Amino acid sequence: MTGRNTGPKTVIIGGGLIGLSIARALTERGITDVLVLERHQLASGGTGKSSGIVRAHYGVPSLAAMAWRSLPLFEKLGAEVGFRQTGYCVLVGEENVEALKANTAMHQGLGVEVDLIDNDRLSSLWPMLHVDDVALASYEPRGGFADATQLALHFSQRAREQGARIRQNVAVTRILTSGDRVSGVELADGEVVEADTVIVAAGWWSAGLLAGLGIDFPVEAYRSELLIVDAGEPLPDLPVISDLVSLQYCRVEGAGQFLVGNSDHADFGSKLVDPDGYSNIAGEASIERYAEKVMHRFPGFPDPSVTHTYAGVYDVPPDWNPVIAPVGGVDGLVLAAGFAGHGFKISPAVGDLVADLVVEGDSTDPDVPARDFRLERFAEGTPLTSLHPYAGAGEMR
Ligand SMILES: Cc1cc2nc3c(=O)[nH]c(=O)nc-3n(C[C@H](O)[C@H](O)[C@H](O)COP(=O)(O)OP(=O)(O)OC[C@H]3O[C@@H](n4cnc5c(N)ncnc54)[C@H](O)[C@@H]3O)c2cc1C
Repeated sequence: MTGRNTGPKTVIIGGGLIGLSIARALTERGITDVLVLERHQLASGGTGKSSGIVRAHYGVPSLAAMAWRSLPLFEKLGAEVGFRQTGYCVLVGEENVEALKANTAMHQGLGVEVDLIDNDRLSSLWPMLHVDDVALASYEPRGGFADATQLALHFSQRAREQGARIRQNVAVTRILTSGDRVSGVELADGEVVEADTVIVAAGWWSAGLLAGLGIDFPVEAYRSELLIVDAGEPLPDLPVISDLVSLQYCRVEGAGQFLVGNSDHADFGSKLVDPDGYSNIAGEASIERYAEKVMHRFPGFPDPSVTHTYAGVYDVPPDWNPVIAPVGGVDGLVLAAGFAGHGFKISPAVGDLVADLVVEGDSTDPDVPARDFRLERFAEGTPLTSLHPYAGAGEMR
């Protein structure tokens, strides 16, 4: 179909968690003339690869607040989005004890239910854990993990029920402007969709769309490998672990297997890929390195084996934090991208923030100042960074 379409007033580019959460949030506020355009299928980007970990542990207060605001939705939806409230632990070595204490105090100040725990308590939560090199841990009993695709589909269903339309297999090729405001988008087949507001939620691919308007969104595509490990015996629901000593994270997967991801980003430059064509299996060297770390942390597994591996791509801005803001001085143009491997747990609150920006012109949550997420911070040299970064794992928190 080609020609002009005088349809929706708000177009959202990208049918991942973020675009769909925004569609859900806008339609909840009564903005129902919303169209989501997805070039492939819903959740086919980074969302479909997400480990789905839910926790409020961030070094940036506004992100911790967003994660905490998002948690009640996971609790409410429960099995509908595969939420398993296993609890969540961060483990640190001596060098990061002060940072962990400071971050935990900051979280408690925001109302997050979290406590510092010693190795005895840690071992009682995770009996198979080797804790000799762990100096301190924090424990969020309400954390856990859920299924990102199911959450994205939940958002899409809510948005549709509230009036939004969603088109799949439709690629946006260009954002259109008229004077200093946005006027719509052009699709791959030449069709023009007119709009007053265009929200770019296309992950890494957002950069190419914005470049067409001369707007620079610095973002890298960083490949992240995951292993599924069979422990050799069924595992009960055990807390998710962010192991900042060995730089890995892990959680139970399915009926008692174990998902292991990498938190060591020291070789960042060597893992940049084309997100439209990258290897979907872990390399031999990575498997060996990650398996060694798993065996160190869980020496008691009776008969561990790697059952399969896969890989996903993070969209990573220079400070590893997203842009959620009007951009480029173009009226009606909003960007929500660059979630760098941590957008799942905050996706409900991201939708709400974008709805605030569109409807109210600012954040309505005093713990989530809109200025934190401006694009200009990169050019101004004021990145959004952790107040209490962890040595060796500064990027993710
Ligand atoms: C391996 C991995 C593990 C992760 N684990 C966690 C975790 O444990 N906890 C957590 O909080 N976060 C995690 N994340 C991060 C989280 O999953 C992402 O931040 C989130 O899913 C990003 O959603 P998105 O909508 O921004 O991007 P995407 O899901 O990538 O969606 C963008 C969409 O835009 C579409 N698109 C692109 N260009 C166009 C175009 N021109 N026209 C139309 N559509 C277009 C794409 O097809 C895509 O579907 C993980 C991510 C990965 C990759």
